[in-house]
Amino acid sequence: MYRIGEGYDVHKLVEGRDLILAGVKIPYEKGLLGHSDADVILHAIMDALLGAMALGDIGKHFPDSDDRYKGISSIELLKEVRKIIYEASNDKLEICNIDSTIICQRPKLRDYIDEMRKNIADALSVSIDRISVKATTEEGLGFTGEGMGIAARAVALLEIK
Ligand code: MG
Repeated sequence: MYRIGEGYDVHKLVEGRDLILAGVKIPYEKGLLGHSDADVILHAIMDALLGAMALGDIGKHFPDSDDRYKGISSIELLKEVRKIIYEASNDKLEICNIDSTIICQRPKLRDYIDEMRKNIADALSVSIDRISVKATTEEGLGFTGEGMGIAARAVALLEIK
């Protein structure tokens, strides 16, 4: 059986924070605000993986009221999500592929995409060809276009054998 999941997340861009996307620290004058490292693309991917298994969302598994998750690397949370979904399937699960999009006016992300894909693939123990990360702008429109925040979307396809 195949199962599909989708995820969506937004974080606000503020001064005085690092910009971390899929575990890559990207040089920029602002970073994303959040309880964890606010790694918006990993949050969307984790919600897609949990959603595919109907296991709720990251807010349920890693509540921001819990100090254990304050400032935590979302790569560590992604590894934890992998564990949660594998356990739920009695280890009969295969991550077929993940496709994702970061919606960001600035900075340009092209040079960092392959490092992001590698970080995600490593955390999930899958080959990099199963992980797609894309980036787009919204042409100056809305909150991403005005540089107020970054949004991300992801879909994940799982096979339960
Ligand atoms: Mg988030």
